[in-house]
Amino acid sequence: MPVNIIQTQYGSQIGDVEFVWARNSKEFLFANSILVKGSPSILIDPSATFTYIEQLASSRSVNVILNTHYHADHRSLNGLFKEVIFAAHEKDAPAIRDHETYEEFADTDPNSFYSEWRKQFFKQYQIHDCPVSQLYKGRELIETDTTQIQLIHIPGHTPGHMALHFKNINTVFTADIDLTPYGPWYANVVSDIDEFIASVERMKKIEADYYVSSHGERIYTPEQYREKIDRFGRHFQERDEKILELLKEGPKELAHIASEAIVYRRPSLVDPLKAYFQWQMVIKHLERLEKKGLIRKEGELYHRL
Ligand SMILES: [Zn+2]
Repeated sequence: MPVNIIQTQYGSQIGDVEFVWARNSKEFLFANSILVKGSPSILIDPSATFTYIEQLASSRSVNVILNTHYHADHRSLNGLFKEVIFAAHEKDAPAIRDHETYEEFADTDPNSFYSEWRKQFFKQYQIHDCPVSQLYKGRELIETDTTQIQLIHIPGHTPGHMALHFKNINTVFTADIDLTPYGPWYANVVSDIDEFIASVERMKKIEADYYVSSHGERIYTPEQYREKIDRFGRHFQERDEKILELLKEGPKELAHIASEAIVYRRPSLVDPLKAYFQWQMVIKHLERLEKKGLIRKEGELYHRL
């Protein structure tokens, strides 16, 4: 029998694990947090619902802060916590510890709109470097007196991206395999599309009673999860196909391909941040299609073979 879900002031609780929805997402970037109550008490991705997270920080009741990956929207409130152990996957920890590494992981162009946006964002939300001392490989079992958490390494979105399986309540947190209709995001330098595809395939096979992701305030049933993750995973292939379809008309330059509705719909591309993300993701698709022998680059032009 699945463990009951209880509604709390800030989210939903299953057993001793509270899923805190990112309701104050206007104050901070939007990502759900998880509080594992017990000893040690673990807070995962402190990033939203500022009022509650601030209460937790001032009560000094949290022992460990675990980040599922290095992205700022999953750790924007790390800095509120003193005298805690910071934990992350060993491959993402360097970018949480040191902003210069974050920049190297994120982007190659210091003058891009994304670079400017990051600068402002880090300043506005006072996101600081964090001394991560507990490193994981993403296959450990973390045990508290109430809960067992199986770490699952799901690289692709970032190299050290991790999902969590809360064993005793049989609930899986899929992090930024976020099951939203927008689909997978892999616009960083260190994002890897093939690893991401493999991670989604792996997550499809994980059976649980409940599923939760970093974005969206809800708990999915196994049936809903299957449907959502299948849809999420189809985006990779669909984006490939859109590019191949476009190249049927004739050879095209990157700028042309990246201005079409490949990842985002056309109206979204007026947002320079989305346009930049799409540009980066299209490059990864073109590299993948070239590796597969489906297209060839000659000069500035991509040809369909
Ligand atoms: Zn992310």
